[in-house]
Amino acid sequence: MMQHYMETKKQYPDCILFYRLGDFYEMFFEDAKIASKELELTLTGKDCGLEERAPMCGVPYHAVDVYLSRLVQRGYKVAIAEQMEDPRQAKGLVKREVTRIVTPGTILDSQALDETKNNYLMCIVYLAKSFGIAVTDITTGEFLVTELSSIRALLDEIYKYAPAEIICNEAFYMSGVDLEELKGKLRFIISSLDNHYFDEDICSDTLKRHFHVDRLEGLGLKDYPIGLVAAGAAFCYLLETQKNSLSHITKIVPYRSGKYMIIDTSTRRNLELLETLREKQKRGSLLWVLDKTRTAMGARMLRSFIEQPLIEHSEILRRQDAIEELNGEYITREELIEYLNPIYDLERLIGRISYQSANARDLIAFKNSLEMMPHIRTLLSGLHSPLFRELYEDLDPLVDLTELIDRAIVEDPPLVIREGGLIKEGYNDEADRLRKAKTEGKTWLMELEAKEREKTGIKNLRIKYNKVFGYYLEVTNSFLSMVPDYYVRKQTLTGSERFTTDELKKLEEIILGAEDKLFILEYDLFCEIREKIAGQVSRIQKTAHCIAWIDVLTSLSVVATRNNYVRPRINEKGVIDIRDGRHPVVEQMLRDDLFIANDTYLDGSNNRLSIITGPNMAGKSTYMRQTALICLMAQIGSFVPASSANIGICDRIFTRVGASDDLASGQSTFMVEMTEVANILRNATKNSLLILDEIGRGTSTYDGMSIAWAVIEYISNPKVLGAKTLFATHYHELTELEGSIKGVNNYCIAVKEMGDDIVFLRKIVKGGADKSYGIQVARLAGVPEPVLARAKELVDELSDADISVRSREIAGTERSAKKPVPRLDEVDLKQMSLFDTVKEDDIVKEIESMELSAMTPIDALNTLYRMQNSL
Ligand code: ADP
Repeated sequence: MMQHYMETKKQYPDCILFYRLGDFYEMFFEDAKIASKELELTLTGKDCGLEERAPMCGVPYHAVDVYLSRLVQRGYKVAIAEQMEDPRQAKGLVKREVTRIVTPGTILDSQALDETKNNYLMCIVYLAKSFGIAVTDITTGEFLVTELSSIRALLDEIYKYAPAEIICNEAFYMSGVDLEELKGKLRFIISSLDNHYFDEDICSDTLKRHFHVDRLEGLGLKDYPIGLVAAGAAFCYLLETQKNSLSHITKIVPYRSGKYMIIDTSTRRNLELLETLREKQKRGSLLWVLDKTRTAMGARMLRSFIEQPLIEHSEILRRQDAIEELNGEYITREELIEYLNPIYDLERLIGRISYQSANARDLIAFKNSLEMMPHIRTLLSGLHSPLFRELYEDLDPLVDLTELIDRAIVEDPPLVIREGGLIKEGYNDEADRLRKAKTEGKTWLMELEAKEREKTGIKNLRIKYNKVFGYYLEVTNSFLSMVPDYYVRKQTLTGSERFTTDELKKLEEIILGAEDKLFILEYDLFCEIREKIAGQVSRIQKTAHCIAWIDVLTSLSVVATRNNYVRPRINEKGVIDIRDGRHPVVEQMLRDDLFIANDTYLDGSNNRLSIITGPNMAGKSTYMRQTALICLMAQIGSFVPASSANIGICDRIFTRVGASDDLASGQSTFMVEMTEVANILRNATKNSLLILDEIGRGTSTYDGMSIAWAVIEYISNPKVLGAKTLFATHYHELTELEGSIKGVNNYCIAVKEMGDDIVFLRKIVKGGADKSYGIQVARLAGVPEPVLARAKELVDELSDADISVRSREIAGTERSAKKPVPRLDEVDLKQMSLFDTVKEDDIVKEIESMELSAMTPIDALNTLYRMQNSL
């Protein structure tokens, strides 16, 4: 056995091998050491013919799923070697084979998976400077293929799908993708496969065979030569790990990333589309507001809608029409929700059914879900918008399958499927007979006994049983003469003889074999039913897809009505005109009606770029994000939080907001900021929407302001870029750009001064702010009074000084690139003069070593305060 173990292990060197021995899966050697540590199992040993005992540990077979998913979640691959024959009947060594390999991207166990998220395996092929990508979720059968030409686009896709596992060709490691950085942000395992996986002929043959097509054109892969290789390799990998036909993967969906709005990673995070920036939780994200879905399929679809807003006008309108219709059909909508509620995760159920891992309870859950379909279909028949018409046509109520399960499977079946109790009375004659035999055998025997007694007149005739002879009729010696000739003698004892008859033999067979036979028969019948259902996989998937759609539309409709959203008009002229817009998430977090609505107007000519000023905490970033979120919601097809909105379709939304958590990756705040700015300037188009918050903040005032200035010039110039932009800044000097560059306008968020305090009005108004109110905000934040007093003194001192003078100079010179930028030595001199009077060497040293770019103004004030106190 150990030899066989070693041979098997050699074939799966990168997997932990679970080796079935009776009621346990055992692990040996290195595997045992790893597993015992990861799973907290006791490490024992086993004689294995070597000098030292082999380290060994094991898990009971019935609990294997829990242990499996724990290992897989920690990034291990597990190969499972099963016993291929019944050990009781095996001659010699029991035959064992690896029947499945479980990896993070191919795990099926529903307990290990979040049902509202897909679990993706991604295959990346780097060939001829392009990336071929296949993405698949084997729990749902989804299979997508695309091709990309840049690392940036590739990263966008990786972040979008956040795969649990990546497989790739060797060349991918040379493509220049920074895997370490990726691994810092996402959790996945990556492994490269042998070259033969990427052989074009093998790939296309595998796909053609699976999808039963002669030519790849039929799969829509003609224009995706590298995507095809990725798809083929992914498929081979799945076949190899699953050792299963994968019949629930019924189609490949090729896509071009150009079909959707592109949202890069930092934007997805900054706008908190799926989770919040800090706590990484759903509550507080856009998804949290929009998700009122009732089914796992709907939840997953909504998530992907948010990840991929549309750019096609007509498709957006289709969704809007459906939502609008549902808004007006309150009762239909409520009823739909009622019927959606009990629907299980059909996509994953069908996966388990095809894998033959579904049990009878799964089938009952499946049936209970299918029972909702006719009701839902009837409700759909009353809706008329094109999308609902289509869903009505596509929704197959699958009545045949409901009936089949209803006829065959008992309502409350046991978990195990090999011990009977699954099949309903009346479904199968043989099963009925066996079941009857088992339970009613005793009565039949008594009936036979009575019948024989009467027939023969033998008064003390008895039917008895023993293990050796089975059932027999016992006749005492005094009655032997009355025994009829159809009695066959079985055994002679001193006082009696034992007989059998044909009828008794038959009964005996029925009774004794009944239970065993029943278990086997029920299992076979169950498998047959499961296979019948598996044969209908594409119909079921289509229905599941319809349900996801209906769920998402219902959810968006509920949110629209409850939150008082309006249907945005959609234009292709590039005008963004939002009246009384609200931030969808912040308004939910505030108590009733506390949110102050604001307008946004941007277009391609006179209103390209808004410079937004106002003190900290005034609401600048909320305002900018709300504009981005409203545009994004509109392109999902959702209604939006505003009193009216007209949204020009954006090809991309870019954001550059505050310091992100990239700090942890060791890059300085400023470096991160500039990398993001570089990305935006390189990739934005005039149809993009840019949200830029405090560009240039991470460096010295002059540098920062100059960079911000140059960035505005670049973006707002229609010959260069001309993207619609909201630009928040602390540099009030930038407001001087209004009037000097066409399309640039000043806005500020109003505050009211009340003595030393300020009140935030949260209202955006035309014009630039001329004061920062930093000290007032610091007071609101609870900075001690002496610091505030001293800061005020410093402000007064500085206000006449160089900084503002210099900035005016820049303002006056901004048109000409040749004019000198502010001289840094002047800045240094200014700083020197401030601290000139301080003689203490320590303080000078401390200042020299300070990381100004990583300090917030409040940090700086506090440091200043401490220094002053130390003098
Ligand atoms: P800034 O970017 O100007 O520093 P924020 O946008 O972060 O300010 O806003 C600070 C806080 O003010 C937010 O957390 C939010 O609670 C509140 N706020 C912002 N805008 C509004 C608004 N329009 N109505 C009500 N509260 C708002």
